[in-house]
Amino acid sequence: MALKSLTIVGATGSVGLSTLDLVRRSPDRFEIKALTANKRVSELAALAKEFRPDFVAIADTNKHKELKELLAGTGIECAAGSEAVIEAAKLSSDILMAAIVGAAGLRPTLEAVRRGATVALANKECLVCAGDLMMQEVKANGAHLLPVDSEHNAIFQVLEADRPDAVHKITLTASGGPFLGRSEESLKSVTPAEAVAHPNWDMGAKISVDSATLMNKGLEVIEAYHLFPVEKDQISVLMHPQSVIHSMVEYIDGSTLAQLGSPDMRIPIASCLAWPERMPVPANTLDLASIGSLTFQEPNYEKFRCLALARDALEAGGAAPATLNAANEVAVDAFLTGRIGFLDISSIVEEALTQIDMKAPHSLANVFEIDSEARHLASALIA
Ligand code: NAD
Ligand code: MG
Repeated sequence: MALKSLTIVGATGSVGLSTLDLVRRSPDRFEIKALTANKRVSELAALAKEFRPDFVAIADTNKHKELKELLAGTGIECAAGSEAVIEAAKLSSDILMAAIVGAAGLRPTLEAVRRGATVALANKECLVCAGDLMMQEVKANGAHLLPVDSEHNAIFQVLEADRPDAVHKITLTASGGPFLGRSEESLKSVTPAEAVAHPNWDMGAKISVDSATLMNKGLEVIEAYHLFPVEKDQISVLMHPQSVIHSMVEYIDGSTLAQLGSPDMRIPIASCLAWPERMPVPANTLDLASIGSLTFQEPNYEKFRCLALARDALEAGGAAPATLNAANEVAVDAFLTGRIGFLDISSIVEEALTQIDMKAPHSLANVFEIDSEARHLASALIA
């Protein structure tokens, strides 16, 4: 495999660090061009000293001075602010790992798409709030969008994308998060610590809460709709608590192809970094004999309202997906900081969806208008 240059936006997060773990083990395959973070300045500086990028950016301008001091004498250029993060994404590199959480990842990801890069996409929120725009830009600029999300990466690996007529449906599997077996009544009082304790995956706080509400699976249904040549009613969700089958494609002849693996994000990340080749990953091998049995069940849309709301938002189109995403980001933050209860997350998203009356976004400016309107509304509902 030829040496590839890599920029990671969101380098200090769970996906960012898993990506750097692979780079650390394969120094002959990758060189780091740029790294960015939101607030974790000392972590970012330590990564910069280790991986020696040309450029690092911190979104929080209050941390600029500290970053400069930490990197003094290294020759590594640094800057601060959301524009600096975008500058990092614009720098020429073979691959951009889009590992920022939330709609904040939209502009950096879009800039990498516009320069025709190979984009390893972890940031699902950017497809939820601006999927049509993003996919138009991918096409127009000859970029490659490779899904990092384990379900979409699984489908990417088994889908014959050039033969959409041969596909009957795609099935996204869902672990169900920590509350799969709990009663709805008992969900009223769950704490942030319980919600982020995912049984199978070690992830950032926001996606962990989304996994507990099943909003994550809802966002993934919308993500799949934009990534793959399927209609909305060809995307189904299946609960599979062991997280071994990462997703599957059923063809019209009755053949179903699935991708399996240990629940370790380094597997789908490596598949994107090495694409179209493959590279070794130090993950546990899949030991099906010791796992013993794989189980499945239908999702409970009444108990996990967020999944139903996301499906409705996809169906409604227009401003609904961007509204769903923004209201959810605000509500999850309020839950994590103890301002609302777990079940309030879906209520706030639902209320925001009924109150927003805006048309489908046809420009990036529109997307941000919808996003900001929905954030105001959700914040007001929380207050
Ligand atoms: P995380 O919270 O661990 O990390 C988020 C990263 O984004 C950090 O580096 C942070 O500094 C940066 N960031 C946050 N806000 C920012 C802002 N306003 N401006 C610039 N940078 C900002 O999140 P994560 O779990 O790594 O998830 C990242 C993305 O990948 C999410 O969209 C998530 O849905 C997706 N994803 C994650 C996993 C996983 O296993 N963690 C799996 C599938 C998909
Ligand atoms: Mg996923």
